[in-house]
Amino acid sequence: MKRFSIKFKIMMFYTVCTTLIVAIMLLFMVHVSGLVVDMGIKDNLVLMVEEDVDDIDFDIINDDEIAGAYEDGDVVFYTEDGLIGSLSVDESYVTSKNGVRILVFGPNDRLLLGDSFDYRLEDVDIKDGEITHASFGQTDYYVYSRLVTLIDKNIPVEFMIVGVVQDTAGSFSGATGSLLKLNLIILPFAIALAALLGYFVTRALFKPIGEITKTAEKISKGDDLSQRIDLGPGGDELHKLADTYNTMLSRLQTSFESEKAFTSDSSHELRTPTAIISAQCEYALSEPRTKEEYVESLEVINRQSQRMSVLISQLLSFTRLEQGTQKLVMEKFNLSSLVNELCNDMEAAQTTDIRIKYDIEPEVFINADMTLIYRMVSNLLSNAYKYGKPGGYVKVSVKNGVDSRKGGCAAAVLIVEDNGIGIAKEELELIFQRFYKGDKSRTSDPEGQTSYGLGLAFVQKIAQLHEGRVTVQSKLDKGSRFIVILPQ
Ligand code: ADP
Repeated sequence: MKRFSIKFKIMMFYTVCTTLIVAIMLLFMVHVSGLVVDMGIKDNLVLMVEEDVDDIDFDIINDDEIAGAYEDGDVVFYTEDGLIGSLSVDESYVTSKNGVRILVFGPNDRLLLGDSFDYRLEDVDIKDGEITHASFGQTDYYVYSRLVTLIDKNIPVEFMIVGVVQDTAGSFSGATGSLLKLNLIILPFAIALAALLGYFVTRALFKPIGEITKTAEKISKGDDLSQRIDLGPGGDELHKLADTYNTMLSRLQTSFESEKAFTSDSSHELRTPTAIISAQCEYALSEPRTKEEYVESLEVINRQSQRMSVLISQLLSFTRLEQGTQKLVMEKFNLSSLVNELCNDMEAAQTTDIRIKYDIEPEVFINADMTLIYRMVSNLLSNAYKYGKPGGYVKVSVKNGVDSRKGGCAAAVLIVEDNGIGIAKEELELIFQRFYKGDKSRTSDPEGQTSYGLGLAFVQKIAQLHEGRVTVQSKLDKGSRFIVILPQ
């Protein structure tokens, strides 16, 4: 059974069920119609006999009256006492109607009226007022009889009035039989039709599954994750399955593509320091150099290897964050204190003349991963310094606010603002992408030595992980404002 397709199994099930239902209905119909016909036949038989009982009349006649009786069409017979009897019938007397034949027996079981050519009633156990079942030859009959005693001239004579009718209800020859025969002819066609319909219905129902399989096959053969299942409009279970499958494919595609981009971006980023290191080594080893030259080469190698090491550790942390392998350690803490301390430390470590302006509400609490928030704030602050102008400022605000996008939920708002080089309009979309680095020529780090293009990607990822968000407003040469909203 396992090797048959589900389509075939459903079709078979459908056909067998239909056949069974039709067969049961048929048997039921035959049975009921048999009963109805049977009842009709019997009722008719009794009715005819009873009506004829009232329509017969009998007289005792003498020899002179015999000729007259014959002339009147009466039946002349002898009674058991040897008297002459004459049996006459009314106009309404019926000998045969609706398949019922009426026979009238007189004394000595002599048949007086009716035609009994194929009934051997002497073999039948006839009971007065009861219907008996009898078989003559191959045919079944119902026999109903009434014993009537008629009296003339004080002489009682017994007559037996017998009705005989063929029992067609139970046989194949009657209406029921015809019905049964008709159904037996129709049944195979009905089954074939049921199977055919079942086949088309299941085929139509299973078409979407075929589509799903086809798409899955195409993807597995060609690695093309952009393929989608198109079932057209609809909302049944299979459409829902296809939608779920498409959503899964979209997510797979996104993560697959970002994985690909990540790998190629990372290798690209690592290639530069590796190339510099190898070039420096070749330069130093190609011929004897002066001590100063060796020192210079080693310094370059040292700088590049440090850069690589920072890059690798940043890449690792970023991957952990992105893949969700780093569990968030959520705790309630004072964001104001954290930002205050961080600003103080930064200010102390700076060699530039950029000042920090504080606009920090004292008690702004959030429920978040402190290490990640620390990293986020420090990335924003170091960018503000890095892309600030000499003699400029960095303004840091922390406030209790609301998130208008989340129906006015309480949120902490952190703003890091500078009056530095600003960001071009077309770059605003790009700066949060991994490894995106803007033009470094206008910064205090024109070689991009401290630039990895991961700072803002971290900021955005951390905000997202806390169900918050980060936005930027900036004007070239005027400065930038980074706004982070974190739910409380
Ligand atoms: P980077 O390591 O290059 O600073 P980031 O992800 O932190 O990487 O920033 C990406 C780019 O966004 C930077 O290269 C820079 O061009 C731009 N940027 C970020 N912060 C600022 C800022 N405060 N002012 C001007 N430009 C900025």
